[in-house]
Amino acid sequence: MKPVNDRLREIVDALKKHIEMEGLDAGMPEVPAAKKTEKPAGLGALEKEVLSCRKCDLYRTRKNVVFGAGSPTAKLMFVGEAPGMEEDLLGVPFVGRAGKLLTKIIEAMGLRREDVYIGNVLKCRPPNNRNPLPTEILVCEDYLMRQIKMINPAVICALGKFAAQTLLRSAETISRLRGKFYDFKGTRLIPTYHPAYLLRNPHDKRLVWEDMKKIRKVLHEC
Ligand code: URA
Repeated sequence: MKPVNDRLREIVDALKKHIEMEGLDAGMPEVPAAKKTEKPAGLGALEKEVLSCRKCDLYRTRKNVVFGAGSPTAKLMFVGEAPGMEEDLLGVPFVGRAGKLLTKIIEAMGLRREDVYIGNVLKCRPPNNRNPLPTEILVCEDYLMRQIKMINPAVICALGKFAAQTLLRSAETISRLRGKFYDFKGTRLIPTYHPAYLLRNPHDKRLVWEDMKKIRKVLHEC
């Protein structure tokens, strides 16, 4: 029979090993969790930067900066033009009438808003919803470029003329640009009509639906 001290030491050693193993097990989820937080952490820092932006005069009239919303690991990213009144009030993109239509489009694709990422070319509302000025786009687009790089979606859908022309560096009309895939820095980008345009021109919804089906096909392939 071993002396009590030796047996106690064995028990303590065994317990230590057990605790170590438990610790490893408990630590396992930390690795993927840390990986998962990589993108949000970068996006969070960018959001903080954008929230205090004063690079153009829109900061004087905005109620809230509308940074963007959705999954930071989304395969599909929508890019709109600029926040409107409701978005400015809530600080969330696409929550007004056009936003409700965009949500319907996303859901018709078999996705949820939380599955995709939604951003805008401008992060602040232009007064009275006027068109973005070229100077505003120029100073704001760097935020969008960094946002896209962090999210790294498989497909970008540019909603309307301003998003399409800004991202593609094109002066073509949205009618000519829409419905085709382009290369945006190695990512597939497809322009389509803006939901606000669809509210005024509902007969063109079928064209947008054609574009969404093309996106869905690409998403299924990757
Ligand atoms: N229109 C846009 O382009 N973006 C929004 O966030 C809302 C309406």
